Amino acid sequence: MTPETKAVLQRIGAALDEHRALRVHVHGLVALHQESKRAVSAKENWNERQGKGRSAARSRERPARRKGPTCGPRPAGASSRISVDLLRAAYQVQIASLKEAYPESRTFPDEDGMWLIAKSSIISGLMREATFLVALPYRSGAGPRGWAFWTADGQPRWIGPRHTNFYDGSICAFAPHDRVWFDGGDLTTLLDLYTVWTVRHLHLEVFGRWPGKQYALLGADPRVQAYYRKIECNDDELCGCGSETLRYAECCKQSDLQWDPMQLMSLFLSRVPGGFSTRRPPRSVLEFINGQSHLPRIAEVHLQMNSP
Ligand SMILES: [Zn+2]
Repeated sequence: MTPETKAVLQRIGAALDEHRALRVHVHGLVALHQESKRAVSAKENWNERQGKGRSAARSRERPARRKGPTCGPRPAGASSRISVDLLRAAYQVQIASLKEAYPESRTFPDEDGMWLIAKSSIISGLMREATFLVALPYRSGAGPRGWAFWTADGQPRWIGPRHTNFYDGSICAFAPHDRVWFDGGDLTTLLDLYTVWTVRHLHLEVFGRWPGKQYALLGADPRVQAYYRKIECNDDELCGCGSETLRYAECCKQSDLQWDPMQLMSLFLSRVPGGFSTRRPPRSVLEFINGQSHLPRIAEVHLQMNSP
């Protein structure tokens, strides 16, 4: 990585720590938003621009927020009433616009939905790219399931395990309560969220810390959350309790250390059998990305699709 690229990555990390909006340009190039507005206004600006027509050089703005490993399907609600046909139509109508934003994206039909494969450049000057493999079931409430790999510089490498889901190592870029994406939603936005998640991984790899806000297991027992933070959070990262300002060492770390470590671990393992080691992609996903097999069926690799 050149010093220039590293400097860009560092500035993006600082923007994430400060909750400033980022832009995601065509082909998934993440850049700073010149005006550094608060993230909350970003989506409105983007919609406004879309309404005025698009150009090849358009960019999309992404909120700098993100969250931890409590991704999952949306609870049953309004969206669960959307039929299979509506979801299929909602995704298929977007294929042309998706190709404008992510020109190398391709879709493949599946018995239970659609696979989306896309490449993202992440930041300017990077000698590798990310490939996203995304299962989009047509069953409302199941949610998307995406896996990310570094490609274009040799053997594909899985991107994880930080902020991936237990049991399948899929991308955890947002939680339902973030309200940034819904079943049937904009696929470019979904890939933008995955792209910003990937730039955070790159920052972690290069600088040794996850940039920006992060959550532990939301809604879990406080001791389970404490264990998660102890394992996952570095001292100089924003605290895994979701703090927007405090680093772990100055926020929850002292209270996390007061629990009996063995008790924390056994409680965590009772709630998350297998624990952190379960965060790895299904074998069939790995075989596909390594060119050893065809795409798996969505029902084979999507946990929510495995259960009625
Ligand atoms: Zn905290």
